Amino acid sequence: MDGDALTTQPLRCLEDALERCQTLGMRLSRQRRYILELLWDAQEHLSAREIYDRLNRQGRDIGHTSVYQNLEALSEQGIIECLERADGRLYGHISDSHSHVNCVDTDQIIDVHVELPEALIREIEAKTGTRITDYRIDFFARKTLEAQGVALD
Ligand SMILES: [Zn+2]
Repeated sequence: MDGDALTTQPLRCLEDALERCQTLGMRLSRQRRYILELLWDAQEHLSAREIYDRLNRQGRDIGHTSVYQNLEALSEQGIIECLERADGRLYGHISDSHSHVNCVDTDQIIDVHVELPEALIREIEAKTGTRITDYRIDFFARKTLEAQGVALD
């Protein structure tokens, strides 16, 4: 992709995402809008199947093929996130670099923006003889007892 500042600014809300589509000359069809609205609203990582099911439950008129094609176009243009998992692809609303907290109890993947201390990055660079330009961290976590609704005293 090109380094155009207009298309590399992080998207922080649904309006940003819609605007990016227009900047990129992507047609903003009703179906495309539905998908973006759903992803920004859900703030989860969903499969194409789940996206299709949820939209149809909301009474949105969108076909299976249209969901797949739009997800592909949107992730190709860097407007949404596409995660390759062993059991298929998941889509999320954040498209710039971010980290994930993977909850092993619930299979939930929570988006977090993590900034590592400068000194740690320098140390890794020195160790590997590289210059780090980007990073994404995968955390693996268990649900806390409080989050499970267990009363602690
Ligand atoms: Zn994510």
